[in-house]
Amino acid sequence: MTPALLQGLSETGFSAQPLSVLQDEQTRELGVISSLAMLEGAPVATRRAWQTAQLHNLIGFARQYSPFWRARLPAGQPEADGLSQWPVLTREQLVHQVQAEGPLSRHVPQLASSLGQTYASSGSTGVPVQTFSLTQNARFNELRSLAQYVMEGRRLDLNRTFIKPAGGQQIADGQRVRVEIQPSWLGSLGGLFAAGHYKTVHADFDAAAIARELRLHPVGYLACLGAHMEALVQCLGDDIAQLGIHMWLHHSDDRNPELVAFLRDRGVVTRSSYSCAELGPIATECPVCPGQYHVVHSNVLVQGGETMAVSGLEGGVLELRHLLVTHLHSYATPLIRYEVGDSAVISERCACGHEGTTLSHIHGRRKNFVRARDGAWVYLPIFSKPMSDLAPFKEFFFEQLEPGRVLLWWVPVGELSAHARSSLVAYLRGVSRADLDFEIRLTDHIDWHHNPKRVPFICRL
Ligand SMILES: [Zn+2]
Repeated sequence: MTPALLQGLSETGFSAQPLSVLQDEQTRELGVISSLAMLEGAPVATRRAWQTAQLHNLIGFARQYSPFWRARLPAGQPEADGLSQWPVLTREQLVHQVQAEGPLSRHVPQLASSLGQTYASSGSTGVPVQTFSLTQNARFNELRSLAQYVMEGRRLDLNRTFIKPAGGQQIADGQRVRVEIQPSWLGSLGGLFAAGHYKTVHADFDAAAIARELRLHPVGYLACLGAHMEALVQCLGDDIAQLGIHMWLHHSDDRNPELVAFLRDRGVVTRSSYSCAELGPIATECPVCPGQYHVVHSNVLVQGGETMAVSGLEGGVLELRHLLVTHLHSYATPLIRYEVGDSAVISERCACGHEGTTLSHIHGRRKNFVRARDGAWVYLPIFSKPMSDLAPFKEFFFEQLEPGRVLLWWVPVGELSAHARSSLVAYLRGVSRADLDFEIRLTDHIDWHHNPKRVPFICRL
């Protein structure tokens, strides 16, 4: 426990019951958080032994309940670092397994009632990838997130604010900003630590409206996309320092290094993380070496697939590897050596002294943001359903090559009528709320070779 954590203790946090210090639930949660922190920092051999045991559990489960996995897994039980000869799980194979077998947890009485969320990527093929998870996965991810605060000795008594891109319904309703506030972001530990509130701001890309909302309370920890932060900085300039942002928790898209420096000069520390819906946390940025990401060893194994040399990046030509991720707790939909579609430079240790798989130069994460004619980023929400209602498609892909202009590669079902074409353009101009030109180019297939994750939109500017 660091001084920053102890400082945040609530005056009435400890239990008044005989022979107890905390309430039972708090003791349990703090136990899990501490054990996760210990595991992440454990000696390599200790951690590997735990990961190998977890991997054996998962492989045994997949063999027992899934004909798909039974047919493809080699014999034997590998060590956690001995998977290199095992087959890669492609997106197409995952779609097949899920459609053929559904959630495997339904075969196990103890897990049957634990089915949590179903994740479906927005999809660009008309066949979104769907995976299942357990309620235990969501709980694990929450506690692992708190463990990061404990590991880094971050204060727990500050507010936490999360800017989420608005959903389809909110955009359809024309609501620019929708806000939810919970009194604490610490769950049962909220009684122990005098935590700040947890505010979620569902917003489209109106930076002035977001800024108005953020001025109402000290922001504390701000979790948002790079594109949202960029828009806020463009809107507020130096006044961003008045919002009370203690730390920017960046996620999901690319992060502009100039933005990080701008914020640092105004007292805002940045920390990024790499995660995805079906896998949970994959890596967190090192507090000592910016741009290096320690893999979340308690949740995933990350290995390198195919190598590609990429030039034009910071550091000259880099050897990027396709990332193959094994989710150690994926009992509803097993993900073993899953080709997640992103690539990165992979090292076995970090310059800070951390011994463990470390990623840098993670690519493949920019989605849904378009450069307008004046250079500003514009949020382009891409939802398959309203588009297929206007014009049925087999697949599509958005690409931007110049500011203010977006190409839409479109594989129609049958003919694309002139009316359907103009309706589609009118819809896209409407949801982008910006002066953008959309050009639809018909094609009979889309080459996903350089975009294996089939991210539906890529901005090449
Ligand atoms: Zn490090």
